[in-house]
This record gives sequence, structure tokens and C-alpha cells, in this order.
Amino acid sequence: LTILGIESSCDDTAAAVVRDCDVLASVVYGQTSLHAAFGGVVPEIAARAHAEKLDHCVEDALAEAGVTLADLDGIAVTAGPGLIGGVLSGVMCAKGLSAATGLPLIGVNHLAGHALTPRLTDQLAYPYLMLLVSGGHCQFLIVEGHDTFQRIGGTIDDAPGEAFDKTARLLGLPQPGGPSVEKAAKTGDARRFPLPRPLLNQPSCDMSFSGLKTAILRARDGVVSEKGGLTAQDQADLSASFQAAITDVLIEKSRRALGIYLAMKPEMPAFAIAGGVAANTAVRDGLMALCAELDTDFVAPPLRLCTDNAAMIAYAGMERMIAGEQDDLTLSARPRWPLDRRAAPMLGSGK
Ligand code: ATP
Ligand code: FE
Repeated sequence: LTILGIESSCDDTAAAVVRDCDVLASVVYGQTSLHAAFGGVVPEIAARAHAEKLDHCVEDALAEAGVTLADLDGIAVTAGPGLIGGVLSGVMCAKGLSAATGLPLIGVNHLAGHALTPRLTDQLAYPYLMLLVSGGHCQFLIVEGHDTFQRIGGTIDDAPGEAFDKTARLLGLPQPGGPSVEKAAKTGDARRFPLPRPLLNQPSCDMSFSGLKTAILRARDGVVSEKGGLTAQDQADLSASFQAAITDVLIEKSRRALGIYLAMKPEMPAFAIAGGVAANTAVRDGLMALCAELDTDFVAPPLRLCTDNAAMIAYAGMERMIAGEQDDLTLSARPRWPLDRRAAPMLGSGK
């Protein structure tokens, strides 16, 4: 099957063409410069930029893949969760294309896109344990099928990507914070600032990252009041200390999640990561070592398929199509849409 994917749930406008497990094209137009002056993504600006760019993005993806609309079998689009204006822009674009061509329309959960990425990149068989760790989410999921996810733990407050972004802002490093903190951390001393490792004393797979933010703020203010400002070395040491704290928590909690998963005796134990923070080398290396220790297959998709992209949306749509599912022009955009249906009431979505 050849599927066009469309993604516009946050600040990346993306389109991709995927044929079975081959990514024929994956185009991503970032909006970082549009939001730079505001220190974060402004939903209204994001929605407008998506509406302006989507057509070009789709044209570029089709051209790069060397296909036309006539070669496609379906159109998959992120229908949530995310910033509602952006999601609506993508859904409208996909509906227009579907109405004009008669091609099937398939709404995709953005988080399912991230969670199924290891099947696109490594043809990973179900079931597997997934750590989905991104700008807005952090959760351990047992992935049993394209629509069957069991959440066994996750953050009770902030997501790690959000914490990376806030830390970058506090340290005067550019957005998105993940890559710039990772870069600064390379020349830093992670032992200079002893930061907390929240909830490690609790046996569950739950995590908390909001306290780290406060801790890094205090550590920064301590240096600033002492010296009147931050040197590049201070930035590096603060970044390294922060990254080490996040990495330690993710690895230790992954050890526990794997313990639960392995006790279920899966035939071929596998652990995969996805989401923007899965692009972090310290996180990837730490989890790879953990899986080697526990004799578990480890899958970490390439960086460009960890952060937001439309290839994962095309692929997740393809799995829905193969399962005989599709939507019609009544498809609606959902700002909230938890993957684990049993977790839905807890998250207050009511859907
Ligand atoms: P969600 O998927 O939860 O809706 P999102 O789509 O905004 O949120 P992603 O695009 O999956 O999130 O990830 C973006 C986040 O990943 C940002 O917070 C960014 O700072 C972080 N990130 C990207 N690269 C890295 C990296 N190398 N190290 C750490 N964090 C990173
Ligand atoms: Fe995402």
C-alpha cells in the first residue's frame, strides 16, 4: 500500500509518502523561527502557518517520492491529540484531498504514530514494551496491536521534553531545548550540581519531572547571584547535570517497567522508544545498555523518525487500513485522545 501522511498537531508541518515499510519521502517544515520571540509555541500562529504551508508540504512530499495522487491507496492524517487549530488544518487538508480524489481517509492518533514507529523502521512484531517520551507525553505502554495499548506508568506532571525546553530557556539556550541542552551537556560536568531523581524511592513506573525544573532554576540562580551571570562552562555543567538526572530516572523506571513486562513472559522480549526525547544520545545509550543487561531486543528509530514527522502517521494509517478501518468526511479533530482507553476517564477526556 502507498499512503500519504499529514501531520500538523504541534509546530511542525509535515507530509510523507510511505509504501509498505519504505519511507519514499518525509518532508518536515519546522516553525521554530516563527515562535522564537515568544519563548514557546503560540497556538494561533502555529495554526495559521500550518494552513499556509500544508499544500506545499504535500506537493513536495509527492514530488520527492516521485508519485502522484493517482498512485496512492489512502490519505492518513493526525486527528489528535494536539493543538486544536493545527490538527484542524491538517484534517481539513486531508478531507479536501480525499473528497477530490475519492481516496480513503484515515484519522490517526499522533501518539499511536510515535508508538508504532519501531514497526515501520524495524518491522518489530507485537507485543513490545514502548517508552513514549516526547514534548507532551511520557508513558510506558505495552503495545499489543495497532489499536491496543496498555499503559503501565508514566509522568504524573511534566513531560521530559517540556523539561528540556524549560531548562534551555532558563539557561539562555535556543529552542527546541532538547538538542541545545544535549549539545551543551557534551562539555559539561554532570556531578557539579546534584539534582533530585524524583520518585525513584517508589516502586511504581510513575515519574515526576516538575521538581527538576525548580531545582535547575535554584541551581542557576545560585550561580548567577555568586558571579553575576552564567559562563559557557556553567551552562554546560547545568545542562549535563540536568540531562543526567532525566536519564537516570528514565533508565531506572524503564528497568521496573521491563521487570513487569518480562514477568508476563513475552516470547520475544523487545523494548522500543519513540518521541522527541528518544533522539537524545544519553537516553538511547543508557537504555541500550539496560536492554543488553536484561537480554531484551532494543529498538531506537533514527532521530528524524523520533521527532514529529508524517511518515509515522502514514504508517499508522496503513495499519488501520490493513485492519479494514477507515474514516469518512465526518472525521473530527480531538485535542485530547489517550491511547489506553481504560486510562481515558483518569485523564479527563471523557471520550
Ligand atoms: P507529543 O508528541 O507529546 O504531542 P510533540 O509532538 O511536541 O509532543 P515531539 O516532536 O515528539 O513532541 O518531541 C519534541 C520534544 O523533544 C521537544 O520538547 C524537544 O526539546 C525534545 N527533543 C528533541 N530532540 C531532543 C534531544 N536530542 N534530547 C532531548 N530532547 C529532545
Ligand atoms: Fe510528537
